[in-house]
Amino acid sequence: MSNVVVDKYDLQLIVDPKKNEFDGLVTIYFEHPPCSDITLNSQGLKIEQYQYNTSKEKKDTPPNKAKFFVDKTQRTVTFPVKSFDDDIKSMTIVYRGPIDYINKPGMKTQGIFKTNILDNKTNKQTFFVSTNCQPFSYIKLFPGVLNNPQKVKFDFTLVYPSNEDYKAVSNTEIIEKSVVDNNIMVKFAETPYMLPSVFGFCLGKLEFLETFVDEMPLRLYTPCNVEEGAFCIDAMKECFMKLKTIFFKGFEYPLKKLDFVALPFLHCYATENFGMVSIMANNILMKNYDESMHKTMKIIIAHEMVHQWVGNRLSFKQEHTWFNESFATFAAMKVLYPQEAEDYDLVVDKLYNHQIKEKENVMQDLDASSFDMLEHDNYTKGVLIIRYIVEAYGMDKLINAIVSLDKKNTQSCVEPDDIFLEMGCLDLYLLLKNGTNERMVLSINEDNIDMIPKGINIPLLLNNDEVCDLDMLDLPTCISKNIVSFKRGNYGLFRVHYNNSTVINNLINSMDSFNELEILSILDDLKFFIGDYKSDVIIGKNDLLLPFLMIEKFSMLLREDEFIADYNECLITLLPIIQSVFTNLHSHDVHDINTFMNIPIKKTILALFKTFKNQVFKDDKFVFDFKKCAPSNYTVMSQLLPLINEDEVDEFTSSIFKTWSTGRPIKSKIPIELIYPSLLTHVEKINQTKDWKKVYQMFLKTQNYMSILDTSNVSVEDFQNYIFASFKEVSEELYMRRLLEYIFENFYEVDLTHKLSLLLSNGNKQFNNSELKHKDLFWEYYVKHFDKFIMEMRTKQKKWTNVASNNFIELSQSTFGSMIDTNINEVEQFVALKESKYGKSMISEVLDLKKKMHAKNNQIYVVYLSDKYDM
Ligand SMILES: [Zn+2]
Repeated sequence: MSNVVVDKYDLQLIVDPKKNEFDGLVTIYFEHPPCSDITLNSQGLKIEQYQYNTSKEKKDTPPNKAKFFVDKTQRTVTFPVKSFDDDIKSMTIVYRGPIDYINKPGMKTQGIFKTNILDNKTNKQTFFVSTNCQPFSYIKLFPGVLNNPQKVKFDFTLVYPSNEDYKAVSNTEIIEKSVVDNNIMVKFAETPYMLPSVFGFCLGKLEFLETFVDEMPLRLYTPCNVEEGAFCIDAMKECFMKLKTIFFKGFEYPLKKLDFVALPFLHCYATENFGMVSIMANNILMKNYDESMHKTMKIIIAHEMVHQWVGNRLSFKQEHTWFNESFATFAAMKVLYPQEAEDYDLVVDKLYNHQIKEKENVMQDLDASSFDMLEHDNYTKGVLIIRYIVEAYGMDKLINAIVSLDKKNTQSCVEPDDIFLEMGCLDLYLLLKNGTNERMVLSINEDNIDMIPKGINIPLLLNNDEVCDLDMLDLPTCISKNIVSFKRGNYGLFRVHYNNSTVINNLINSMDSFNELEILSILDDLKFFIGDYKSDVIIGKNDLLLPFLMIEKFSMLLREDEFIADYNECLITLLPIIQSVFTNLHSHDVHDINTFMNIPIKKTILALFKTFKNQVFKDDKFVFDFKKCAPSNYTVMSQLLPLINEDEVDEFTSSIFKTWSTGRPIKSKIPIELIYPSLLTHVEKINQTKDWKKVYQMFLKTQNYMSILDTSNVSVEDFQNYIFASFKEVSEELYMRRLLEYIFENFYEVDLTHKLSLLLSNGNKQFNNSELKHKDLFWEYYVKHFDKFIMEMRTKQKKWTNVASNNFIELSQSTFGSMIDTNINEVEQFVALKESKYGKSMISEVLDLKKKMHAKNNQIYVVYLSDKYDM
């Protein structure tokens, strides 16, 4: 790689859009006189001659005749420097290069390229020349240095034919225009120090729209359809004003103008050349107003504009492209749609562990496009990191850090780390950037506040809008000042474990001042600790207190005023947590939860149910008129139903059940959400044989019962599973026996392969007034029917169908599966007994049947047998 440091390129290009080649003349100014051979990078350029310029004024210096060496694979050219060539200030190179012709979408647009444009007025074809120097393609425009340790200045002159009415645009404004023979020569103002990847120019029959912000011109150039640019130029003005006056307040826009140029083809859609953004025409030209397109356009415009400040004025090296892009995306949203900019919470969880690694060896592939430089997860996580840090430290602090870094780095690139070091939060940034498998838990205990693992200082976003360092927060302050919430949004970043009853009570008392996101964030943590048991934190009685008090609070809030659906999303998250607590307490033989927790939870849930029932029904006559009610109301209700064991609820579910099963005329269809819980409660209470027949008939003739339901999001198959899955909740032995009899009667005709495993999945459920569990009964029926099934199968009785074979296999697998962990001896004895009766072939018969079926995931039976009998 190169051994020289470039300070400035003085570049003159002679471009005739009609031709396929351009002529170039570049003078490269060095920071220090080179003392050994000079190696430059160049791609596709034919070097014709060169000369070194020294400080001694030598007029008419002859071009250097010494040979130079071209290495096409390395894309380098090396110019010899002799020991007597001292004091080389700069060198001038004369060369020639290609203009690529782009005529269809998707072609790579790198270096200098042209497209043809049909002029609507004259009906003539003209050529439009443009450039894309990202990320390394500037070496297709001039011999240069790829690994320059600092930014460079450009002095650019463009020469083009005067016979057509061409216009030229580049990074800076035109300071001189002259006519020489048949050519026009335009000289652009010297640029500030910048990355060569954002150098660029355009040349063609361009029209433009213009607007001003504080006397600075903003222009939109296009080779065609300029009348479609009206929305764009307005959006440019709006975005630029917001960025300049609100967002980057105090951080000057560095140039004297900003242009956008619409390109017919650009493989990377938009490129943020300094002062001259190139962008695919269809992103910014709009014939008719379209709201969503307009929004997308504004976001792109703001994004490319942000790059002008952060990216172009303050610059990063290519390996930090992810940060450059994350920043532009975040800032554009923050400036245009602040609400949405803050709406990235849910992704944190997914990317929590993701480690952002900078691409090593970025210059390995010189043909890479700027897309290739960007790893999507890095970019998304980058947005989340910036968003979090801004939330914690404020936008001003971030912009101040950027301004202060910019002052120290006019000539050099910075790293993202520098920004956060300047802000004083490098630790937090590195923690987020590196990702971790460990979840941080902020534990609010009875006597202290603790962050686990220790040693991480993460800013806490307090509910009084303050940001506080963890070590500044103590429990007495927390209690006396009623500080109860420690984050805003940011679901996954750290978890708050409320384990102090005073804080919990304070939290409940101030809950009506929280917005939905804050409550959801608390619930998300509860789900983490209680619902899903993902953490190592020991769950105590206080953990159960919080969800119970929350439901009480919701019930109160909803009763006080007129009904509002504002808490529905929170209830939909909270109720499964309550369900999970109930299930767990039951499994620990706690059935009287009211007494155990000293909270009238059952009463509260019933009150909540009544509140929601009143939303669905006008009176107690259960006239179904679902359309008038917010859909989330049924979802809440469907989650309440399984939690209540009261007559009033039975009346409700059986009313739904009867309406549905009898086809009673109703005003509107019954939402499917209500069917499953109704069926469950109904199934548990069922006490007449004819009701069993009814439910089973419904399963068999599902289609007939669909018409009365709102089935827009459920299939017949799903619905059948709904019904069948409810059977596993049966609590009365007598009715499960009847159900099994129906099942065995229909064993030959009805395909039960998917359903049997659903039914048997609740094998440990105990029947009311009995020691017997579901699986005991299943086993009894299996053993009882086994001989009959084997005989029917062996004698190939007419009755024995393929359906029966498949059902038999499924039944065997599910039954053995539920027995195997606790009743292994019984199973072994059974298999031994049947083998002595039917011979070992009995087992292979069952296994042969297996071959006729599709492979099953759960092959416990087969595995068990093959292990046992070495088959
Ligand atoms: Zn970008």
